[in-house]
Amino acid sequence: MFATLSDRLTATFKTLRGKGRLSEADIDATAREIRVALLEADVALPVVKEFIAAVKERARGAEVSQALNPAQQVIKIVNEELVQILGGETRRLRFAKQPPTVIMLAGLQGAGKTTLAGKLALWLKNQGKQPLLVAADLQRPNAVNQLQVVGEQAGVAVFAPEPGNGVGDPVGVARDSIEHATSKLYDVVVVDTAGRLGVDAELMQQAADIRDAVHPDETLFVVDAMIGQDAVTTANAFLDGVGFDGVVLTKLDGDARGGAALSVASVTGRPVMFASAGEKLTDFDVFHPERMASRILD
Ligand code: GDP
Repeated sequence: MFATLSDRLTATFKTLRGKGRLSEADIDATAREIRVALLEADVALPVVKEFIAAVKERARGAEVSQALNPAQQVIKIVNEELVQILGGETRRLRFAKQPPTVIMLAGLQGAGKTTLAGKLALWLKNQGKQPLLVAADLQRPNAVNQLQVVGEQAGVAVFAPEPGNGVGDPVGVARDSIEHATSKLYDVVVVDTAGRLGVDAELMQQAADIRDAVHPDETLFVVDAMIGQDAVTTANAFLDGVGFDGVVLTKLDGDARGGAALSVASVTGRPVMFASAGEKLTDFDVFHPERMASRILD
């Protein structure tokens, strides 16, 4: 097992007691420990560098207080910086003043979008909302069926093209779904879109066209936490191609080290809003930046 970052920092400062300020050597030693811990958590290197620069600057300015020993003080700074990058407070969904609220999901194929759509719909339903799931992923032959299955499990209606009808026109389906939701008084529409295994110009354009057809109140970028720092490239491509308001991390049950969370939030400046940690529809919650920060530290 790796030593935790808190343990590493505590060990670094073992010999250091009662000094007025942290010395440059102490700060460098701290930076080394943080660097190793973040790289082990699979955080992208540029993010690690930027993070260390911010912590160093704050550590230099900090008086070693009476109440905290140097290790505790640096741990406090690291914790605060981590929470800030991850979005500070939990960023809640913004509901439209005029229903329906439109939530669009974007991300690579296999990221967990369809599963997430079901999880989100159930979560919304449990809050007294009337969600409608929309099958605008017409790329994968089984995607519509898969959404229908999760919709059934969640007890939520699914808007999908009639068989043989609308196939190949995900933008039309998405547009029609809003009319349908408005007339049937659904108050939240969750639009599942297609994703390829790699970033693909045509599908990115399709996602942008769906965005323009449905005017999402929230576009959520869904990303598999297990891809760690590789999430940065995908996140940037989606930010450029479609744009998004928040990030959803999936498969945190497979990798809870936080590399993807920290890298994506830092590079895109978008908060992580939800976390998914399992295949069951109930394995889902809003994301808590401070809990992820403690996980990275402890
Ligand atoms: P999509 O292609 O983005 O729509 O991805 P899917 O929703 O089809 O998910 C791809 C695979 O990942 C499926 O086998 C899901 O059961 C699985 N999956 C989705 N979310 C999670 C999660 O949070 N944890 C785990 N372990 N598996 C997940």
